[in-house]
Amino acid sequence: MFDKILIANRGEIALRVIRACREMGIKSVAVHSTADADAMHVRMADESVCIGPAPSSESYLSKAAIISACEITGAQAVHPGYGFLSENASFAQALEDHGITFIGPSAEHIRIMGDKITAKDTAKNLGIPVVPGSDGGVPDFETALKVAAEIKYPVIIKATAGGGGRGMKVAKSPEELEIAFRTARAEAKSAFGNDEVYIEKYLQKPRHIEIQVFGDGRGKAVHLGERDCSLQRRHQKVFEEAPGPCITPAMRAKIGKTCADAVAAINYIGAGTIEFLYEDGEFYFIEMNTRLQVEHPVTEGIFGVDLVREQIRVASGMEMSFGQDDLEINGHCIEVRINAEKIPNFSPCPGKVTQYHAPGGLGVRMDSALYDGYRIPPYYDSLIGKLIVHGRDRPEALARLKRALGEIIIDGIDTSIPLFHMLLAEPDIQTGEYNIHWLEKWLESQFSK
Ligand code: ADP
Repeated sequence: MFDKILIANRGEIALRVIRACREMGIKSVAVHSTADADAMHVRMADESVCIGPAPSSESYLSKAAIISACEITGAQAVHPGYGFLSENASFAQALEDHGITFIGPSAEHIRIMGDKITAKDTAKNLGIPVVPGSDGGVPDFETALKVAAEIKYPVIIKATAGGGGRGMKVAKSPEELEIAFRTARAEAKSAFGNDEVYIEKYLQKPRHIEIQVFGDGRGKAVHLGERDCSLQRRHQKVFEEAPGPCITPAMRAKIGKTCADAVAAINYIGAGTIEFLYEDGEFYFIEMNTRLQVEHPVTEGIFGVDLVREQIRVASGMEMSFGQDDLEINGHCIEVRINAEKIPNFSPCPGKVTQYHAPGGLGVRMDSALYDGYRIPPYYDSLIGKLIVHGRDRPEALARLKRALGEIIIDGIDTSIPLFHMLLAEPDIQTGEYNIHWLEKWLESQFSK
């Protein structure tokens, strides 16, 4: 087992990893930009190293600075959290070249899954159902027209190198396709430096269902059921739950086994998430994330496992501490993402938090790096906390969520908490009847009068 782990991240996820390290008796090293000198992760870690100025391109994304920080502190492994360098194959490779363990899958697996076309091809070959669409990249508009006519409109154009919900355009007709194709390419070029796009059938009322998988790197893998993350704004998740309200045990067992078998076949190591759109009883693969997800706590809650601890264990060469037969669902979990944003336009709202009070009580987990007097810097993601509740069933979890949201105090800035109070009053949220378009339509009906 490692003696010391460096966490190449900030905010709540850095705390999440530091907590796991502490419980395992492992020393933790925080890295930070100059803007984060007073951040909670710096205070909580055993040691800290400043790795550069505020812009993440010069700090949290600086591979050289992070590797130097490992060398200075003697950290033997790096946990990347999510975002930043967590799915950067060359970072994983560079660490390996320096004799430092990357707590995550191999550079090769990151690379395969990071390119969406290769990922889709790999998934197909491993027996995972995929969305109908082009075989690989679409080189020109004529090909795009041909593919769209075959799979039928509406279609969605996606950037091969895309991520974070960016670089996607929907077209309902050949006329729309022409504009969508050109703008998608131009946007992909400027956002990702790669203008390759591909086409998929655009599903009209799917749910976003993702399967958590975990492998030991030696051909053993399990699944930890699904999360339903259908409530999205601009393709970004805002509310996640497990188990999925529309997934039966038989469906879970079937798709779960398909996913676990697929990652076992490639000797995948650590945590991974296979994302699907789910419509009319069918699953369609969209992508695989080769890292810990923001919403991993809902899975931890219903299975009673610590996914970060497990990541650290397998990265150090130990066996997984559970097998498929040990995993049984207990109750229902819901997570809401609390952002420093002003509702209804969702504009970022950094600034000083004059008072912070976290909710507590049975079945309540608040993962946040806030504290009284903390100044939220304007340079990074607006996520400032995740409230996760656990109940014996979905109605109990919903009631607990309402109660816990009412206890939170975050003064001095605007947050997305009012949005969740409103959502909880909606019958569709109470019954679990929503798809990936529900939230955008609801926001329009509420706020654009
Ligand atoms: P990213 O990597 O940018 O997050 P994804 O491929 O995971 O992109 O898609 C993000 C979201 O976009 C999905 O959760 C879904 O809401 C929407 N989406 C993606 N593909 C389709 C599709 N074929 N039909 C309908 N919606 C889609």
